[in-house]
Amino acid sequence: MKLDTIPDEFTKAASVLKEIQDHGFEAYFVGGSVRDALLKQPIHDVDIATSAYPEEIKHIFPRTIDVGIEHGTVLVLDGEEQYEITTFRTESAYQDFRRPDTVTFVRSLKEDLKRRDFTINALAMDVEGNIIDLFEGMNDLDQQIIRAVGNPKERFHEDALRMMRGLRFASQLDFKIEENTLSAIQEFHSLLGKIAVERIAVEFNKLLMGKNRRAALLPFIETECYQYCPGLRPFGEALFNFSDLPNQQIEIDSEVWTLLLRTMQLSESEVRGFLKEWKLSNQMIHAVQQRIYGLNKRLAGEWQAQDLFDLGLDAALSVEKLLFYYGQKSKLEEVRDCYLGLAIHDRKQLAVTGNDLLAYFDKKPGKWLGEMIEMIESAVVNDKLVNDKEMILIFAKEMINKE
Ligand code: ATP
Ligand code: MG
Repeated sequence: MKLDTIPDEFTKAASVLKEIQDHGFEAYFVGGSVRDALLKQPIHDVDIATSAYPEEIKHIFPRTIDVGIEHGTVLVLDGEEQYEITTFRTESAYQDFRRPDTVTFVRSLKEDLKRRDFTINALAMDVEGNIIDLFEGMNDLDQQIIRAVGNPKERFHEDALRMMRGLRFASQLDFKIEENTLSAIQEFHSLLGKIAVERIAVEFNKLLMGKNRRAALLPFIETECYQYCPGLRPFGEALFNFSDLPNQQIEIDSEVWTLLLRTMQLSESEVRGFLKEWKLSNQMIHAVQQRIYGLNKRLAGEWQAQDLFDLGLDAALSVEKLLFYYGQKSKLEEVRDCYLGLAIHDRKQLAVTGNDLLAYFDKKPGKWLGEMIEMIESAVVNDKLVNDKEMILIFAKEMINKE
Protein backbone atom coordinates (compact mmCIF):
# COMPACT_ATOMS: atom_id res chain seq x y z
CA MET A 1 0.00 0.00 0.00
CA LYS A 2 1.22 3.45 -0.88
CA LEU A 3 0.01 6.78 0.44
CA ASP A 4 -1.26 8.67 -2.64
CA THR A 5 -0.87 12.19 -1.35
CA ILE A 6 2.03 12.60 1.00
CA PRO A 7 1.38 15.39 3.50
CA ASP A 8 3.82 18.33 3.46
CA GLU A 9 5.22 17.45 6.88
CA PHE A 10 6.76 14.32 5.33
CA THR A 11 7.91 15.93 2.09
CA LYS A 12 9.76 18.52 4.13
CA ALA A 13 11.57 15.78 6.03
CA ALA A 14 12.32 13.67 2.94
CA SER A 15 15.83 15.09 2.49
CA VAL A 16 16.73 14.00 6.02
CA LEU A 17 15.63 10.43 5.30
CA LYS A 18 17.49 10.41 1.99
CA GLU A 19 20.63 11.69 3.64
CA ILE A 20 20.54 8.77 6.09
CA GLN A 21 19.91 6.32 3.24
CA ASP A 22 22.78 7.79 1.22
CA HIS A 23 25.03 6.78 4.08
CA GLY A 24 23.85 3.19 3.73
CA PHE A 25 21.29 3.04 6.52
CA GLU A 26 17.54 2.52 6.58
CA ALA A 27 15.19 5.31 7.67
CA TYR A 28 11.41 5.44 7.98
CA PHE A 29 8.66 7.61 9.30
CA VAL A 30 7.05 5.82 12.22
CA GLY A 31 4.39 6.05 14.90
CA GLY A 32 1.63 8.60 15.29
CA SER A 33 2.40 10.64 12.19
CA VAL A 34 1.97 7.65 9.86
CA ARG A 35 -1.23 6.65 11.63
CA ASP A 36 -2.63 10.18 11.43
CA ALA A 37 -1.66 10.59 7.75
CA LEU A 38 -3.53 7.40 6.91
CA LEU A 39 -6.52 8.67 8.86
CA LYS A 40 -6.24 11.98 7.00
CA GLN A 41 -5.94 13.78 10.31
CA PRO A 42 -3.60 16.64 11.15
CA ILE A 43 -0.06 15.52 11.85
CA HIS A 44 1.78 16.65 14.97
CA ASP A 45 5.38 15.58 15.09
CA VAL A 46 7.04 13.53 12.42
CA ASP A 47 9.14 10.83 14.10
CA ILE A 48 11.88 9.05 12.21
CA ALA A 49 13.33 5.62 13.00
CA THR A 50 16.61 4.42 11.58
CA SER A 51 19.06 1.54 11.52
CA ALA A 52 21.89 4.05 12.12
CA TYR A 53 23.19 4.26 15.68
CA PRO A 54 23.04 7.62 17.43
CA GLU A 55 26.76 8.26 16.91
CA GLU A 56 26.34 7.52 13.21
CA ILE A 57 23.46 10.01 12.97
CA LYS A 58 25.64 12.60 14.67
CA HIS A 59 28.33 11.99 12.04
CA ILE A 60 25.87 12.43 9.19
CA PHE A 61 24.28 15.70 10.30
CA PRO A 62 26.22 18.82 11.27
CA ARG A 63 23.57 20.18 13.65
CA THR A 64 22.25 17.74 16.24
CA ILE A 65 21.21 17.85 19.86
CA ASP A 66 21.36 14.90 22.25
CA VAL A 67 17.86 14.75 23.62
CA GLY A 68 17.70 11.15 24.75
CA ILE A 69 20.76 9.46 23.46
CA GLU A 70 20.52 6.62 25.99
CA HIS A 71 17.20 5.71 24.36
CA GLY A 72 18.69 6.22 20.93
CA THR A 73 17.10 9.58 20.13
CA VAL A 74 19.00 12.42 18.51
CA LEU A 75 17.39 15.68 17.46
CA VAL A 76 18.48 16.72 13.98
CA LEU A 77 18.16 20.39 13.06
CA ASP A 78 17.33 20.93 9.42
CA GLY A 79 16.84 24.60 8.52
CA GLU A 80 13.87 25.78 10.55
CA GLU A 81 12.74 22.23 11.20
CA GLN A 82 13.84 19.66 13.75
CA TYR A 83 13.32 15.93 13.75
CA GLU A 84 13.62 13.29 16.42
CA ILE A 85 15.57 10.43 14.94
CA THR A 86 15.56 7.25 16.97
CA THR A 87 17.66 4.18 16.38
CA PHE A 88 15.71 0.93 15.93
CA ARG A 89 15.67 -0.66 19.33
CA THR A 90 14.28 -3.43 21.41
CA GLU A 91 13.43 -3.21 25.05
CA SER A 92 13.73 -6.06 27.47
CA ALA A 93 12.88 -7.13 30.99
CA TYR A 94 10.56 -4.50 32.37
CA GLN A 95 10.92 -5.55 35.96
CA ASP A 96 9.19 -2.54 37.44
CA PHE A 97 6.32 -2.44 34.92
CA ARG A 98 7.32 0.97 33.70
CA ARG A 99 10.70 1.18 32.09
CA PRO A 100 12.86 -1.26 30.28
CA ASP A 101 15.92 -2.50 32.13
CA THR A 102 17.88 -2.42 28.92
CA VAL A 103 17.42 -0.73 25.60
CA THR A 104 19.28 -2.50 22.84
CA PHE A 105 19.92 -0.84 19.50
CA VAL A 106 19.25 -3.12 16.56
CA ARG A 107 19.47 -2.88 12.78
CA SER A 108 16.04 -4.40 12.11
CA LEU A 109 12.90 -2.35 11.55
CA LYS A 110 10.77 -5.34 12.43
CA GLU A 111 12.29 -5.61 15.91
CA ASP A 112 11.62 -1.93 16.44
CA LEU A 113 8.00 -2.09 15.34
CA LYS A 114 7.43 -5.14 17.53
CA ARG A 115 8.07 -3.17 20.73
CA ARG A 116 5.49 -0.52 19.88
CA ASP A 117 2.22 -0.44 21.77
CA PHE A 118 -0.65 -0.83 19.29
CA THR A 119 -0.84 -2.12 15.74
CA ILE A 120 -2.04 1.27 14.48
CA ASN A 121 1.08 2.82 16.03
CA ALA A 122 3.40 0.19 14.61
CA LEU A 123 3.19 1.29 10.99
CA ALA A 124 6.18 2.69 9.14
CA MET A 125 6.39 4.64 5.90
CA ASP A 126 9.36 5.02 3.58
CA VAL A 127 10.30 8.18 1.79
CA GLU A 128 8.19 7.30 -1.26
CA GLY A 129 5.07 6.83 0.83
CA ASN A 130 5.08 3.01 0.90
CA ILE A 131 3.51 1.70 4.09
CA ILE A 132 5.26 -1.08 5.97
CA ASP A 133 2.61 -2.94 7.89
CA LEU A 134 3.95 -5.98 9.73
CA PHE A 135 1.18 -6.34 12.33
CA GLU A 136 -1.99 -5.72 10.34
CA GLY A 137 -2.19 -2.18 11.56
CA MET A 138 -3.84 -1.05 8.31
CA ASN A 139 -6.64 -3.52 8.82
CA ASP A 140 -7.14 -2.29 12.38
CA LEU A 141 -7.15 1.30 11.15
CA ASP A 142 -9.88 0.35 8.69
CA GLN A 143 -11.84 -1.50 11.34
CA GLN A 144 -11.20 1.28 13.87
CA ILE A 145 -9.69 -1.05 16.40
CA ILE A 146 -7.03 -0.61 19.05
CA ARG A 147 -5.12 -3.85 19.36
CA ALA A 148 -1.89 -4.46 21.24
CA VAL A 149 1.08 -5.61 19.17
CA GLY A 150 1.64 -9.25 20.15
CA ASN A 151 0.39 -10.59 23.45
CA PRO A 152 -1.50 -7.82 25.25
CA LYS A 153 -0.89 -9.30 28.70
CA GLU A 154 2.84 -9.26 28.15
CA ARG A 155 2.74 -5.80 26.66
CA PHE A 156 0.83 -4.26 29.59
CA HIS A 157 2.99 -6.13 32.02
CA GLU A 158 6.06 -4.59 30.40
CA ASP A 159 4.66 -1.08 30.55
CA ALA A 160 1.40 -0.47 32.33
CA LEU A 161 1.05 3.05 30.90
CA ARG A 162 0.05 1.41 27.63
CA MET A 163 -3.36 0.65 29.16
CA MET A 164 -4.01 4.36 29.62
CA ARG A 165 -2.65 5.01 26.14
CA GLY A 166 -5.07 2.47 24.70
CA LEU A 167 -7.97 4.16 26.45
CA ARG A 168 -6.94 7.60 25.29
CA PHE A 169 -6.66 6.46 21.68
CA ALA A 170 -10.18 5.03 22.00
CA SER A 171 -11.33 8.53 22.89
CA GLN A 172 -9.12 10.52 20.52
CA LEU A 173 -9.72 8.36 17.46
CA ASP A 174 -13.16 7.11 18.42
CA PHE A 175 -11.95 3.50 18.02
CA LYS A 176 -12.93 0.33 19.86
CA ILE A 177 -10.49 -1.58 22.02
CA GLU A 178 -10.12 -5.12 20.74
CA GLU A 179 -11.48 -7.84 23.03
CA ASN A 180 -8.24 -9.51 24.15
CA THR A 181 -6.59 -6.15 24.60
CA LEU A 182 -9.49 -5.01 26.74
CA SER A 183 -9.54 -8.12 28.88
CA ALA A 184 -5.80 -7.75 29.46
CA ILE A 185 -6.46 -4.19 30.67
CA GLN A 186 -9.11 -5.61 32.96
CA GLU A 187 -6.65 -8.15 34.31
CA PHE A 188 -3.69 -5.83 34.80
CA HIS A 189 -5.37 -2.54 35.67
CA SER A 190 -3.77 -2.43 39.12
CA LEU A 191 -0.29 -2.15 37.57
CA LEU A 192 -1.19 1.46 36.82
CA GLY A 193 -0.40 2.07 40.47
CA LYS A 194 3.28 1.70 39.54
CA ILE A 195 3.22 4.46 36.94
CA ALA A 196 4.27 8.06 37.61
CA VAL A 197 1.28 10.34 38.02
CA GLU A 198 2.63 12.78 35.45
CA ARG A 199 2.61 10.12 32.74
CA ILE A 200 -0.91 8.99 33.61
CA ALA A 201 -2.04 12.61 33.65
CA VAL A 202 -0.80 13.21 30.08
CA GLU A 203 -2.87 10.30 28.81
CA PHE A 204 -5.95 11.03 30.94
CA ASN A 205 -5.95 14.62 29.79
CA LYS A 206 -5.93 13.48 26.16
CA LEU A 207 -8.66 10.97 26.94
CA LEU A 208 -10.84 13.71 28.45
CA MET A 209 -10.35 15.99 25.45
CA GLY A 210 -10.86 13.34 22.80
CA LYS A 211 -13.57 13.02 20.19
CA ASN A 212 -15.45 10.28 22.02
CA ARG A 213 -14.59 10.47 25.70
CA ARG A 214 -17.53 8.29 26.61
CA ALA A 215 -16.09 5.43 24.53
CA ALA A 216 -12.99 5.56 26.71
CA LEU A 217 -14.56 6.43 30.05
CA LEU A 218 -16.83 3.38 30.07
CA PRO A 219 -13.97 0.87 29.72
CA PHE A 220 -11.86 3.08 32.05
CA ILE A 221 -14.55 2.53 34.68
CA GLU A 222 -15.40 -1.08 33.84
CA THR A 223 -11.81 -2.29 33.85
CA GLU A 224 -11.31 -0.39 37.14
CA CYS A 225 -8.32 1.50 35.80
CA TYR A 226 -9.78 4.57 37.51
CA GLN A 227 -9.12 2.98 40.88
CA TYR A 228 -5.40 3.36 40.27
CA CYS A 229 -5.56 6.95 39.11
CA PRO A 230 -5.03 9.81 41.58
CA GLY A 231 -8.00 10.53 43.82
CA LEU A 232 -10.57 8.72 41.66
CA ARG A 233 -11.01 5.53 43.66
CA PRO A 234 -14.22 6.55 45.49
CA PHE A 235 -15.73 8.15 42.41
CA GLY A 236 -16.82 5.30 40.17
CA GLU A 237 -20.41 6.46 40.14
CA ALA A 238 -19.51 10.12 39.58
CA LEU A 239 -17.30 9.06 36.66
CA PHE A 240 -20.20 7.15 35.24
CA ASN A 241 -22.46 10.19 35.57
CA PHE A 242 -19.76 12.28 33.96
CA SER A 243 -19.60 9.88 31.02
CA ASP A 244 -23.35 10.31 30.71
CA LEU A 245 -23.15 14.06 30.03
CA PRO A 246 -23.57 15.00 26.36
CA ASN A 247 -20.57 13.53 24.59
CA GLN A 248 -19.65 16.56 22.50
CA GLN A 249 -15.89 17.06 22.39
CA ILE A 250 -14.27 19.63 24.69
CA GLU A 251 -10.87 20.79 23.50
CA ILE A 252 -9.93 22.98 26.45
CA ASP A 253 -8.48 21.11 29.40
CA SER A 254 -9.70 23.44 32.16
CA GLU A 255 -13.24 23.10 30.83
CA VAL A 256 -13.33 19.33 30.77
CA TRP A 257 -11.78 19.05 34.23
CA THR A 258 -14.44 21.52 35.41
CA LEU A 259 -17.22 19.25 34.21
CA LEU A 260 -15.57 16.22 35.78
CA LEU A 261 -15.01 17.88 39.14
CA ARG A 262 -18.43 19.43 39.28
CA THR A 263 -19.89 15.97 38.74
CA MET A 264 -17.74 14.74 41.61
CA GLN A 265 -19.28 17.42 43.84
CA LEU A 266 -16.04 18.33 45.60
CA SER A 267 -15.74 21.36 47.83
CA GLU A 268 -13.43 24.17 46.75
CA SER A 269 -10.54 22.94 48.90
CA GLU A 270 -11.10 19.34 47.85
CA VAL A 271 -10.89 20.46 44.23
CA ARG A 272 -7.47 21.91 44.92
CA GLY A 273 -6.27 18.77 46.71
CA PHE A 274 -7.55 16.52 43.95
CA LEU A 275 -5.93 18.49 41.14
CA LYS A 276 -2.70 18.71 43.15
CA GLU A 277 -2.68 14.92 43.31
CA TRP A 278 -2.83 14.94 39.53
CA LYS A 279 0.14 17.35 39.64
CA LEU A 280 -1.66 19.94 37.58
CA SER A 281 -0.28 23.49 37.60
CA ASN A 282 -1.52 26.17 39.99
CA GLN A 283 -2.73 28.14 37.00
CA MET A 284 -4.85 25.22 35.88
CA ILE A 285 -6.17 24.63 39.39
CA HIS A 286 -7.20 28.28 39.65
CA ALA A 287 -8.91 28.16 36.26
CA VAL A 288 -10.90 25.07 37.25
CA GLN A 289 -11.88 26.49 40.64
CA GLN A 290 -13.13 29.69 38.99
CA ARG A 291 -15.13 27.76 36.44
CA ILE A 292 -16.75 25.43 38.96
CA TYR A 293 -17.72 28.45 41.06
CA GLY A 294 -19.13 30.22 38.00
CA LEU A 295 -20.93 27.15 36.72
CA ASN A 296 -22.69 26.57 40.04
CA LYS A 297 -23.75 30.22 40.12
CA ARG A 298 -24.91 30.23 36.54
CA LEU A 299 -26.86 26.99 36.86
CA ALA A 300 -28.71 28.60 39.76
CA GLY A 301 -29.61 31.80 37.87
CA GLU A 302 -28.39 34.71 35.76
CA TRP A 303 -24.97 36.31 36.06
CA GLN A 304 -24.56 39.16 38.52
CA ALA A 305 -22.23 42.02 37.59
CA GLN A 306 -20.03 41.08 40.53
CA ASP A 307 -19.60 37.49 39.24
CA LEU A 308 -18.52 38.69 35.82
CA PHE A 309 -16.10 41.14 37.39
CA ASP A 310 -14.66 38.48 39.72
CA LEU A 311 -14.30 35.80 37.07
CA GLY A 312 -13.20 37.88 34.10
CA LEU A 313 -14.39 37.42 30.53
CA ASP A 314 -12.56 34.21 29.61
CA ALA A 315 -13.78 32.23 32.60
CA ALA A 316 -17.32 33.60 32.27
CA LEU A 317 -17.49 32.62 28.60
CA SER A 318 -16.09 29.17 29.39
CA VAL A 319 -18.82 28.66 31.96
CA GLU A 320 -21.43 29.90 29.55
CA LYS A 321 -20.26 27.37 26.95
CA LEU A 322 -20.43 24.56 29.52
CA LEU A 323 -24.14 25.20 30.14
CA PHE A 324 -24.70 23.18 26.98
CA TYR A 325 -23.76 20.03 28.91
CA TYR A 326 -26.65 20.72 31.29
CA GLY A 327 -29.21 21.18 28.56
CA GLN A 328 -29.15 24.97 28.76
CA LYS A 329 -28.57 27.57 26.09
CA SER A 330 -25.30 29.48 26.09
CA LYS A 331 -25.75 33.23 25.77
CA LEU A 332 -22.23 34.09 24.76
CA GLU A 333 -22.95 37.44 23.11
CA GLU A 334 -25.08 38.66 26.01
CA VAL A 335 -22.43 37.73 28.52
CA ARG A 336 -19.75 39.46 26.48
CA ASP A 337 -21.86 42.62 26.24
CA CYS A 338 -22.63 42.55 29.95
CA TYR A 339 -18.98 42.13 30.76
CA LEU A 340 -17.89 44.91 28.42
CA GLY A 341 -20.59 47.13 29.93
CA LEU A 342 -19.16 46.86 33.46
CA ALA A 343 -18.07 50.25 34.81
CA ILE A 344 -14.62 48.86 35.58
CA HIS A 345 -12.83 45.61 34.78
CA ASP A 346 -10.05 45.93 37.28
CA ARG A 347 -9.60 47.53 40.68
CA LYS A 348 -6.83 49.68 39.19
CA GLN A 349 -9.45 51.47 37.10
CA LEU A 350 -11.14 52.97 40.18
CA ALA A 351 -10.97 56.75 40.13
CA VAL A 352 -9.42 56.78 43.62
CA THR A 353 -6.34 55.02 44.94
CA GLY A 354 -5.47 53.91 48.43
CA ASN A 355 -3.21 56.94 48.69
CA ASP A 356 -6.08 59.27 47.78
CA LEU A 357 -8.14 57.80 50.63
CA LEU A 358 -5.27 58.02 53.13
CA ALA A 359 -4.74 61.69 52.25
CA TYR A 360 -8.44 62.50 52.29
CA PHE A 361 -9.13 60.98 55.70
CA ASP A 362 -5.69 61.74 57.10
CA LYS A 363 -5.68 58.28 58.65
CA LYS A 364 -3.00 55.62 58.98
CA PRO A 365 -3.27 52.64 56.65
CA GLY A 366 -4.88 49.57 58.19
CA LYS A 367 -7.62 47.04 57.75
CA TRP A 368 -10.14 49.82 57.20
CA LEU A 369 -8.46 50.80 53.95
CA GLY A 370 -8.78 47.41 52.27
CA GLU A 371 -12.38 47.14 53.40
CA MET A 372 -13.15 50.61 52.12
CA ILE A 373 -11.66 49.90 48.71
CA GLU A 374 -13.63 46.66 48.55
CA MET A 375 -16.88 48.54 49.32
CA ILE A 376 -16.11 51.18 46.71
CA GLU A 377 -15.22 48.56 44.11
CA SER A 378 -18.38 46.62 44.75
CA ALA A 379 -20.56 49.74 44.63
CA VAL A 380 -18.99 50.81 41.31
CA VAL A 381 -19.19 47.33 39.77
CA ASN A 382 -22.84 47.03 40.76
CA ASP A 383 -23.68 50.48 39.36
CA LYS A 384 -24.54 51.89 42.76
CA LEU A 385 -21.77 54.46 42.55
CA VAL A 386 -20.28 56.40 39.63
CA ASN A 387 -16.57 55.89 39.09
CA ASP A 388 -15.75 59.55 39.75
CA LYS A 389 -13.25 60.75 42.33
CA GLU A 390 -15.53 63.28 44.00
CA MET A 391 -18.50 60.93 44.15
CA ILE A 392 -16.37 58.15 45.53
CA LEU A 393 -14.95 60.35 48.28
CA ILE A 394 -18.46 61.43 49.31
CA PHE A 395 -19.47 57.76 49.38
CA ALA A 396 -16.41 56.88 51.45
CA LYS A 397 -17.15 59.61 53.94
CA GLU A 398 -20.71 58.37 54.38
CA MET A 399 -19.36 54.89 55.00
CA ILE A 400 -16.91 56.10 57.62
CA ASN A 401 -19.59 58.16 59.37
CA LYS A 402 -21.86 55.11 59.46
CA GLU A 403 -19.37 53.15 61.55
P1 ATP B 1 0.32 11.56 19.51
O1 ATP B 1 -0.35 11.91 18.23
O2 ATP B 1 -0.53 11.83 20.69
O3 ATP B 1 1.71 12.08 19.66
P2 ATP B 1 1.68 9.06 19.15
O4 ATP B 1 1.20 7.72 18.73
O5 ATP B 1 2.63 9.77 18.22
O6 ATP B 1 0.42 9.95 19.45
P3 ATP B 1 3.76 9.31 21.10
O7 ATP B 1 3.68 9.30 22.58
O8 ATP B 1 4.24 10.53 20.41
O9 ATP B 1 2.33 8.88 20.56
O10 ATP B 1 4.68 8.07 20.71
C1 ATP B 1 5.18 7.88 19.39
C2 ATP B 1 5.18 6.38 19.07
O11 ATP B 1 6.04 5.68 19.99
C3 ATP B 1 3.84 5.69 19.19
O12 ATP B 1 3.07 5.83 18.03
C4 ATP B 1 4.25 4.26 19.47
O13 ATP B 1 4.65 3.61 18.27
C5 ATP B 1 5.48 4.43 20.32
N1 ATP B 1 5.18 4.45 21.76
C6 ATP B 1 4.97 5.54 22.54
N2 ATP B 1 4.77 5.19 23.81
C7 ATP B 1 4.87 3.86 23.86
C8 ATP B 1 4.78 2.89 24.92
N3 ATP B 1 4.53 3.26 26.16
N4 ATP B 1 4.97 1.59 24.58
C9 ATP B 1 5.23 1.23 23.30
N5 ATP B 1 5.32 2.08 22.29
C10 ATP B 1 5.15 3.38 22.55
MG1 MG C 1 3.59 11.67 18.68
